Amino acid sequence: MMTDCIFCKIIAGDIPCAKVYEDDDTLAFLDIAPNNKGHTLVVSKKHYETILDTPDDMLCRIISAVKKVAAAVKKGTGCGGFNVTQNNYRIAGQLVPHIHFHIIPRIEGDEFKFWPQGKYEEGEMEKWRAKIAKELE
Ligand code: 5GP
Ligand code: ZN
Repeated sequence: MMTDCIFCKIIAGDIPCAKVYEDDDTLAFLDIAPNNKGHTLVVSKKHYETILDTPDDMLCRIISAVKKVAAAVKKGTGCGGFNVTQNNYRIAGQLVPHIHFHIIPRIEGDEFKFWPQGKYEEGEMEKWRAKIAKELE
């Protein structure tokens, strides 16, 4: 655990998150500033900074969780498809230096853009969390 890492704090339960899934190696929760509603992050429970720092066997386990959660994002949000993205180092847009994959739901005509990211109205995040989490029960 890196004490100054926001994702390590979420994993430790010190900061709340809208959790949709967890297993021994990963935690999945909604991105607080979604590109589209239901935008989900799958993070390694163990702190590694980038894909280059993460052991291959752990990467395999993380991407398996991404596949599982992506199926739930697709069903739960009813999106037509999704992007899986993963940023490495600040220049590439990695703001949180703790490895994570983005699952971004896509809908026809969504005029998708990476920036600026959107926001949830009061209580709205829980509704999207529940739609995805129920597919993972
Ligand atoms: P990166 O830019 O590092 O690939 O992605 C980091 C993501 O984490 C951003 O999309 C950002 O909105 C999200 N994020 C940052 N802080 C928090 C937080 O405290 N809670 C949640 N749920 N997401 C966060
Ligand atoms: Zn961390």
